[in-house]
Amino acid sequence: MEELSHWIDGARVAGKSGRFADVYNPAIGEVQARVPLASKDEMDDAVARAAKAQRAWGATNPQKRARVMMEAVRLINRDMDKLAEKLSSEHGKTFVDAKGDVQRGLEVIEFCIGAPHLLKGEFTDSAGPGIDMYSMRQPLGVVAGITPFNFPAMIPLWKMGPALAGGNAMILKPSERDPSVPLMLAEIFQEAGLPDGVLQVVNGDKDAVDAILDSPVIQAVGFVGSTPIAHYIYHRAAETGKRAQCFGGAKNHMIIMPDADMDQAADALVGAGYGAAGERCMAISVAVPVGEGTAEALRERLVPKIEALKVGPYTAGDDVDYGPVVTQAAKENILRLVESGVAQGAELVVDGRGFKLQGYENGFFVGPHLFDHVKPEMDIYRTEIFGPVLSMVRAASYEEAIGLAMDHEYGNGTAIFTRDGDAARDFAHRINIGMVGINVPIPVPLAYHTFGGWKKSGFGDLNQHGPDAFKFYTRTKTVTSRWPSGIKEGAAFNFKAMD
Ligand code: NAD
Repeated sequence: MEELSHWIDGARVAGKSGRFADVYNPAIGEVQARVPLASKDEMDDAVARAAKAQRAWGATNPQKRARVMMEAVRLINRDMDKLAEKLSSEHGKTFVDAKGDVQRGLEVIEFCIGAPHLLKGEFTDSAGPGIDMYSMRQPLGVVAGITPFNFPAMIPLWKMGPALAGGNAMILKPSERDPSVPLMLAEIFQEAGLPDGVLQVVNGDKDAVDAILDSPVIQAVGFVGSTPIAHYIYHRAAETGKRAQCFGGAKNHMIIMPDADMDQAADALVGAGYGAAGERCMAISVAVPVGEGTAEALRERLVPKIEALKVGPYTAGDDVDYGPVVTQAAKENILRLVESGVAQGAELVVDGRGFKLQGYENGFFVGPHLFDHVKPEMDIYRTEIFGPVLSMVRAASYEEAIGLAMDHEYGNGTAIFTRDGDAARDFAHRINIGMVGINVPIPVPLAYHTFGGWKKSGFGDLNQHGPDAFKFYTRTKTVTSRWPSGIKEGAAFNFKAMD
């Protein structure tokens, strides 16, 4: 069995704590590697080393740092298949989807090539007599990224790119479920010219995370994961005065208006609901058809599409629609929630409970499920299931439909399917959710825009990637200077206008 490591000062370093987590191949349900779980001492040591390396990196000019990004783009493209293969084997998603995971992270590194422009300050000439005023964006020092299992390439890259291009050193604490790809990415960045110690990948669980949160050296924490942990990290990071942006879970609604193209809406729902086995924070998990006629038309189209979904291992080729979920515990949690839906009176229209795949009986596969007549008080509506389970909540009107999405505690993504521009515009304007799709089911913004949810889907300020990420991972200093120094005004005791 492979024994994974940390990545410290540009080399793979074995864990010293004696604690490990199993890393599975979810398609066969077998442990394929184990990953060390860092102790507080190991984390503190990695942070101290990062602080040392950051001094020279922070003083390196932005263009040179951007060139490292440029080379990393080339190398990630070179290793795309290798990265995607490893990613699929630990996460379970299909090979094509794994490539998409790498690709959407890569696009943020491409954006980071423009770091010199984003890091430019502002300048006011002659703000007063002989006085100039300018601001600069400076690195924070050592910052951290704590990332979830479901995008083991994309989200680490979203964190690493802006933090490193901004002149910081980064401690990356990836998910212990699929830690290999972040380690491979660290090697790639070293090959691209990143100095040793500037990126430390420290594997671990709560102990490692708590060591990050308590570290007086770490200045900012970018977290992505479930809402209870996001909330915990936000609180605890604030106690030690850190900057924190913590993105959490989701329950994304798609509203289908009576005038929508029903075939397009059904296709969108199947892809967005079941792709990656529903293990996406932007997955659609609630369909809200407006009117009984819409609900019937949609259901009629959805059922055969869902029943025809091909579930299998990533090794079975491109026609597999989705793979296993990440762990046996995740599978059991999904099936427990399905049982609660049945018990609480929802209609289980497509029942994936008995799903078995020949030759992969021990894999963590979950068949597709569709519930109809789901009510807002049911657990399957209130909880993020994070599996291949779509719930249909019938609404009598557009107002009722938008009200459902607005009242839900999560606010990550949402979509409306309609041909009515007025309804679409009203929806985009009024909805209290961070990312909105209009006839687009998974509205993940591109690298040069920003990504972030509202309500319990995101704590803190500023979003991920785009210009916000550079603001998050740098701080502004403003300088007021007077030249020539020969101007003599005498002592000034009062604030006054500069004139
Ligand atoms: P998770 O919260 O279990 O883990 C995320 C990270 O937190 C991991 O690195 C993990 O090691 C660490 N962690 C776990 N338990 C901890 C604890 N008790 N104390 C300190 N740290 C702890 O999330 P996950 O299961 O890996 O990922 C799935 C979740 O992430 C879903 O809720 C999904 O919606 C969410 N997610 C959100 C976004 C977003 O941008 N909003 C994006 C992707 C995933």
